[in-house]
Amino acid sequence: MTLKQELATLLGPKGWLTEDVQAFQTDWLKLQSHAPLGVARPANTAEVSDVMRLAHRAGVPVTPQGGNTSLCAGAVPGAEGHIILSLSRMNEIEQIDPNGFTAIAGAGVVLAQLHDAVATRDLMFPMHLGAEGSAQIGGLIATNAGGSHALRYGMMQDLVLGLEVVLPDGRIWNGLRPLIKDNAGYQLRRLFCGSEGTLGVVTRAALRLFPAPVSRATALLCVDDAPGLVRLGGHLRQGLGEFISALEFFCDDGLTMALKHVSGLDYPLESRSAQYVLVELSTSAGAVDLDGLLEAALGEAFEAGLVTDGAVAANETQRAAMWKLREEMPEGQRLEGPQIKHDVSVPVAELGRFIDTTAKELQRILPGVRLNPFGHLGDGNIHFNLTPPEGMEGFGDCKETLSRLIYEAAEASGGSFAAEHGLGRNKCAYADWLRSPVELDLMVRIKATVDPGGMMNPGVIVPERKEQE
Ligand SMILES: Cc1cc2nc3c(=O)[nH]c(=O)nc-3n(C[C@H](O)[C@H](O)[C@H](O)COP(=O)(O)OP(=O)(O)OC[C@H]3O[C@@H](n4cnc5c(N)ncnc54)[C@H](O)[C@@H]3O)c2cc1C
Repeated sequence: MTLKQELATLLGPKGWLTEDVQAFQTDWLKLQSHAPLGVARPANTAEVSDVMRLAHRAGVPVTPQGGNTSLCAGAVPGAEGHIILSLSRMNEIEQIDPNGFTAIAGAGVVLAQLHDAVATRDLMFPMHLGAEGSAQIGGLIATNAGGSHALRYGMMQDLVLGLEVVLPDGRIWNGLRPLIKDNAGYQLRRLFCGSEGTLGVVTRAALRLFPAPVSRATALLCVDDAPGLVRLGGHLRQGLGEFISALEFFCDDGLTMALKHVSGLDYPLESRSAQYVLVELSTSAGAVDLDGLLEAALGEAFEAGLVTDGAVAANETQRAAMWKLREEMPEGQRLEGPQIKHDVSVPVAELGRFIDTTAKELQRILPGVRLNPFGHLGDGNIHFNLTPPEGMEGFGDCKETLSRLIYEAAEASGGSFAAEHGLGRNKCAYADWLRSPVELDLMVRIKATVDPGGMMNPGVIVPERKEQE
């Protein structure tokens, strides 16, 4: 039997697709698409193990796929004839423990599905991002997703307690222990967080939950300039401490594009400014007066000249409207036309200087380029996205120069050229020149140890050339 026939027999018509697979093979940004051998949709861990064993024996590469929302083409194969392994049928939430504050979820559980399920038990899973209606637990783990609440709750690696993983040869590692403290050797679960499908297939996860918030306070604030973002962020964190659950920022050019293109946006302030901060507090303790705390901190911020205008959301509708402004930054820019996206991070104290000096350099190289830096002020994560000057043709030809400039500037500031989206296929080559030989060597060795045949998502994280060296 051919591999195709074996997989068809093993998985049946629901679990092995060879037709109408365009949506699986094309990445979210529609930049990459290669026809696969087929799409495997196993229903349980045993079937994942069998798929991996058969693919391993036949020497056919496998790309695991969750919601396929990767912004760096990590979830689609880099060449024709590979297997796409979709986890979407493994979407069962097996357990929610309201006393231990843990859940056990299949890799294919969609993030919003988990939010809804735990909310019915007055619990919260604190990972929030724009793709939460599609992104799946396995994909979030494999990319070590960050999102807007990382400042308070950490990234996905901080929310994963235990994992079940199928290794490239089909063996199953059951590390599904719902423990905060588990120091029995190397932190294998952390190794798989951010491994982007290159070391194994995450099949189930034990996740950390928190009590659901009973109140929130949210404000949108005007700030004069990028260095002012850092000063305001520091002031708010000093005054409001652990109550801050999100501290986001965006700029006026991004706001202009969003207001121009996205319907249903409501800008609540009378004045505009160069930069904006969205701050949100939350608590699960009913006795805490969040509005009072926020107003006191904002009063001081106005007095110190850190804020020039601002509004506190008076109800849930206003709160949602403020968040929509922040969340529609990427959509507004997408609708404006071609763009080049960057996801970088710098130490928080450097964020203002980084934005200003990088903006100057970008303008020097390409006068009139429109800049839309926005993101997560609390953890220094900037989506430094660029739109061409009005009327310019051939913006794509400048990509390499502009991207290199941004990545080098981030690294020179003590930051990282890849913050929360990972490397995928798009950024893999940059690691060669932006990471030290020692760091690269460690990664190549880890890959070679866990996946000696280089069958798991080749071309992601470790360049294929290095895998073979
Ligand atoms: C509108 C939008 C907003 C976004 N906002 C954010 C944000 O704020 N923060 C952020 O961090 N990201 C963000 N992203 C990026 C993306 O949503 C995340 O990277 C997310 O974690 C991907 O989940 P997914 O299920 O779609 O994974 P996929 O895109 O399907 O896969 C991503 C990677 O994980 C691997 N993978 C998937 N499932 C498994 C598995 N079960 N086992 C092993 N490997 C697997 C894939 O091979 C691939 O390398 C955003 C994307 C969009 C489109």
